Amino acid sequence: MATNVQVTIVGSSNVDITALMDRLPGPGETVLADSYRLTPGGKGANQALAAALAGARTEFIGAVGNDSHAEIALGQLAEAGVKLDRVAHTDGATGVAIISVDAQAENSIAVISGANATMDAPAVNAAGELSGILVLQGEIPASGIRAAFDAAREQVVLNLAPVIELDREYLVRANPLVANEHEAALILRQLEGSAELSTDPEPVIARRLCAQGLSSVVVTLGGEGCLVASLDGDGKVDVTRIPARKVEAVDTTGAGDAFTGALAARLAHGDPLVEAADFAGRFAALTVQHHGAQASYPRSLENL
Ligand code: ADP
Repeated sequence: MATNVQVTIVGSSNVDITALMDRLPGPGETVLADSYRLTPGGKGANQALAAALAGARTEFIGAVGNDSHAEIALGQLAEAGVKLDRVAHTDGATGVAIISVDAQAENSIAVISGANATMDAPAVNAAGELSGILVLQGEIPASGIRAAFDAAREQVVLNLAPVIELDREYLVRANPLVANEHEAALILRQLEGSAELSTDPEPVIARRLCAQGLSSVVVTLGGEGCLVASLDGDGKVDVTRIPARKVEAVDTTGAGDAFTGALAARLAHGDPLVEAADFAGRFAALTVQHHGAQASYPRSLENL
């Protein structure tokens, strides 16, 4: 069993089919694309690769289909030494994201969940014990997320992207909740039960999330870095802003996943949250300087 695993990720794995074209087709229209590529993706798999490359012994628990995409979906993880023996191989299709990108880098994306949709509570319960820091996202059914929370042995890093409905009792157990600015506002609306999306500045949103019962929150701010909010011993909320390293960004695909995976790796190593977030930001800044998601993740930490 996975006794020495430091980070367990329960989540999605996909194959991204990316077609590059001058302009995106309108309804009913066909355009000729210049080229396409098949690359591994899915937030769970991306975060598992990042955690492993950031130095943690990592296990990925998810589901793939019985098609040729399964091998592509898991290839980089296998190469990086991520433990994969509890990945389910189901009868259907591996999850696929069909991504069209035009010359201005504008995109449109259709996701077919495929095997990821089988990651419900029975499937997660069948996997058994979840060791180390647990990392969850929003690309598997909510029942699977709840079951994973219930099986967690240590702290749970929740990156609820996309933002799906999740019961308050689970949301407040996230430690930390990792969300970009938009997701943070959506989750706050869910927790406060309000109709409006808050337009407050991010530090206020982070404080309001903590006021709802979360003990820590990390809001990522793209090229601006991130904010860490956490409750101190006296019940006060400390907010720390961590600026991003100034780099030339060519493609930010998968930067948020790189950040979350690296953050979990450092938390597993024993870093306090602010230090772990600083590391995660430096790790993510390396990825935005290269194209692709998993392909852009650093294979060496030398330039960190
Ligand atoms: P998401 O992709 O989930 O929206 P963000 O765009 O906020 O996530 O990016 C996640 C993290 O990646 C940021 O907090 C930052 O550390 C890093 N990052 C993203 N874009 C840049 C950039 N242009 N320069 C440096 N770091 C970046």
